[in-house]
Amino acid sequence: MNKVRNSIILATLTFVPLIINLILHRRYRRLKKALKCQEKFYYNVIFINMRNVDCKQHLISRKECGNSCSYVQLQKILHFVSSAKVSICVCMYMLTLKQFSQELIKAHKRGVKIRVILDLIMANADAAQYNISKFIQNDIIYKHQVPEYSMMHHKFCLIDKEDSSLAKMFFGSMNLTGQAMVYNFETVILTNNSHVIQRYSDEFEDLWNYF
Ligand SMILES: [Zn+2]
Repeated sequence: MNKVRNSIILATLTFVPLIINLILHRRYRRLKKALKCQEKFYYNVIFINMRNVDCKQHLISRKECGNSCSYVQLQKILHFVSSAKVSICVCMYMLTLKQFSQELIKAHKRGVKIRVILDLIMANADAAQYNISKFIQNDIIYKHQVPEYSMMHHKFCLIDKEDSSLAKMFFGSMNLTGQAMVYNFETVILTNNSHVIQRYSDEFEDLWNYF
C-alpha cells in the first residue's frame, strides 16, 4: 500500500511541475509573439487645433512653422499617397484638397489602382469640382452612396492593402479640405496595423460593391 502511495507522490512531484512549466512556457511564447506583433505597428497621430490657425499661409507658401504645422501634417498624408505601389482606396466625405488629388493622379499614371468613394452631396459641391473634373479627365473611378442614404461620412484611405509588407492607412475625423487642415479641431491616425487595415478594407469592398 505504501509502495502505491509513494509511487503516486513521486509521479505527482515529477509531472505536475512539468505540466505547469509547459503551460507557463506556452503562455510566455504567446505573449512574446503578441508583443513582437505590436512592435512592428506604428501609430502616427496628427492633431489640427488652435495652433494651426495661421497655417493657411504655410500651406500656400510651403513653409512650416513647426512639427504641428498643417504643411508638415499634409506632407505626411501626401507621402502616404506618393509611396503607393499597388492600390489606393479613398473613402472621404469631402475631398477638395488639390494637392491630394494631384498625388492620386500621379499614382494613377504610374500604374497604381485608384478607387475613390465620396459623398453624393459633397461631390456635387462647387468646392469639389476641380478634383471631380480631374478624376474624370484621368479616368479615375469614383463612386458615391445611393441617393436614399443620407451621408457617406467616412474619412479614411487605404494604401497597398493587398500587400502586407506595404499596407498602411490613415483615418480620423478630418476631411481632405484646406478648411479642415487649418481651421478645425481634427485628428488623423496613420498606421500600418494589419488588423485595422483588414477591417477597413472589408468595409471599403462592401461599400464599393454596394454603390
Ligand atoms: Zn504652420
